[in-house]
Amino acid sequence: MPTENKSTISHDHRPATELTFEEAVKGGARLIPGKAIAAGIRAEVKRAVDERSKNGLRAPGLAVILVGEDPASAVYVSHKTKACEEVGVMSRRCVLPSDASQAALESLIDELNADSEIDGILLQLPLPGHLEAPPLLERINPAKDVDGFHPYNIGRLAQRMPALRPCTPKGIITLLQKSGIDPKGKDTVIVGASNIVGRPMALEMLLVGSTVTVTHKFTSNLAHKVAMADILIVAVGIPGLVKGEWIKPGAVVIDVGINRLECGRLCGDVEFDAAAQRASLITPVPGGVGPMTVATLLENTLLAATLNP
Ligand code: NAP
Repeated sequence: MPTENKSTISHDHRPATELTFEEAVKGGARLIPGKAIAAGIRAEVKRAVDERSKNGLRAPGLAVILVGEDPASAVYVSHKTKACEEVGVMSRRCVLPSDASQAALESLIDELNADSEIDGILLQLPLPGHLEAPPLLERINPAKDVDGFHPYNIGRLAQRMPALRPCTPKGIITLLQKSGIDPKGKDTVIVGASNIVGRPMALEMLLVGSTVTVTHKFTSNLAHKVAMADILIVAVGIPGLVKGEWIKPGAVVIDVGINRLECGRLCGDVEFDAAAQRASLITPVPGGVGPMTVATLLENTLLAATLNP
């Protein structure tokens, strides 16, 4: 866990919008409590699932496909199925051996697409090297695509008609809303342009009226781009890539990165202590964006069940 430097982290719990700029930067950033916000979302999903059950409707169902024995993927899958259990969502783990064929995955996806107890299908990435993820993601029925990665769902988001939205970017929008941040008219800089985080994040921020800059590995002068950000969202997977001194004073910093250091400690992609001296709000790693991704997956599964009874 990042060391919470008591001298730099303010414990003022007013919404960020009620702070003046001077108040926001004086005494360091406030932490965005991702874990607590995610717990609130999970409780809302649980209430809705209980309500469905009172009305005689079945529990929403999520199928999680895991191929092989990648330990990190196995941990993510168990977090997701445990979270389902807690809110009353039915989960089914579909585990295939690491040498499973593309055809075996295709037929599993076809079966799950046709299964009336399954509302959401999640293919845990990354897949072993011999498998091709894009055609498999595209084979999932878009109405059951609770990860929001199908080109149909990405296209709808791009055209301002969102349906099922990718979990991490959608979770970050919820974090901003619950923290009292209105991105409209603000300059957002996104570091990282992956299909899973950076690109859909750019579409989400456009949708809420932010002016968006997306950076990637060919971007020159990253420090200069980062310094423009009122809202900075970083998803690369390189510990400490973003230096604290680059951060615009008063900026909101969302660190998506999850990196395990040799000492075993988890950290993000932003130099936390130095960034917290300049930002007004910052997410911790762990306990920031990660719990929101799982909570949003539950939200999406409920939404899929509601839209496709
Ligand atoms: P990814 O697929 O490896 O993508 C990394 C992105 O960073 C790519 O777009 C790459 O650019 C870009 N990049 C590489 N070097 C860069 C540089 N020097 N400057 C700017 N951009 C650079 O990774 P991902 O799946 O998006 O995940 C990123 C991080 O977020 C990882 O640590 C992952 O574990 C974490 N993550 C966390 C959550 C969560 O729930 N908290 C969810 C998903 C991911 P190119 O496109 O040009 O290659």
